[in-house]
Amino acid sequence: HADIALYHTKDKGRDGYHFFLHDLNTHLNGRMTMETDLRRGLQREEFEVFYQPQYEVASRRIIGMEALVRWRHPERGMVSPGEFIPIAEDTGLITPLSEQVLQHVCRQTRLWHEMGLPRVSVAVNLSANQIEQPEFVERFMATLLAHRVPVSAIGIEITESMLMRDLEGTIGKLKQLSKLGIEISIDDFGTGYSSLSYLNRLPIDTIKIDKSFVHDIRPSNNGTSIVAGIAAMTRGLNLNLIAEGVETEAQFEYLERIGCHACQGYYLSHPLDASTATRVLGAQAL
Ligand code: C2E
Ligand code: MG
Ligand code: MG
Ligand code: MG
Repeated sequence: HADIALYHTKDKGRDGYHFFLHDLNTHLNGRMTMETDLRRGLQREEFEVFYQPQYEVASRRIIGMEALVRWRHPERGMVSPGEFIPIAEDTGLITPLSEQVLQHVCRQTRLWHEMGLPRVSVAVNLSANQIEQPEFVERFMATLLAHRVPVSAIGIEITESMLMRDLEGTIGKLKQLSKLGIEISIDDFGTGYSSLSYLNRLPIDTIKIDKSFVHDIRPSNNGTSIVAGIAAMTRGLNLNLIAEGVETEAQFEYLERIGCHACQGYYLSHPLDASTATRVLGAQAL
């Protein structure tokens, strides 16, 4: 950090330098507090999973749920993953955290099956550090087995940036999971600066188009948007297309028109706590 500090000294004069050190200290202290906090949260099992329904466009029925972690923090209330996932990744705490998330998901899925609710597949988000663990596939499958959850009930979401870290290693593990029957989705599609060539090399079932493209939809586009282009491409590759971040009726109707298979977003449903998600699934069973 000395080099950067020196650079700032020249750049901004003495005050700049002091401000910089102050900011750096606050930042590092914040991270340290967060790490200690995360460890304690994991020990006390403060993490919860919310479920956001994914609706099939044609039938308007729920065909899947995305599992989204939440931290029920004793002082701060509900904390979103954007605030703690990056720190969990840097500190290696992502592995125990992901294991808790998968256990929650498996327990919940098992419960839904036992209640006789409609079978939907639940997708969990993976992180690069997690998939890079040597025994990742074995441990993932062992958790499903321990909860007697069939592979058809669980999917995984990976991002393009995960592929950029260790493409060969990741391809190998995804192929194993896919052979075992786990559905694989590419999350935040179109935001990762990666080459499209991986689409032919990976056992992908579904592409989730990023919400930034969905938000750019103008009904007047009439099928000439990035979203429409991606829809045509996924049809050509025989993949499913899910749109995320669908917030308005106009977006939903546009997505229907261009042949998008399923939609997820506030227009249809916010992420729900487990008991609300259970009620929503129960209502669909009637
Ligand atoms: P993601 O996987 O792309 O999840 C979608 C995010 O968009 C979620 O934010 C969801 O609440 C939000 N969202 C859903 N519908 C709408 C909408 O209509 N409009 C807008 N503006 N947003 C919408 P959330 O729950 O805060 O999660 C943020 C990110 O944190 C996720 O992005 C995912 O990358 C990560 N994440 C969440 N849970 C986990 C987890 O268990 N493990 C890992 N590794 N990452 C997770
Ligand atoms: Mg996701
Ligand atoms: Mg996403
Ligand atoms: Mg994401």
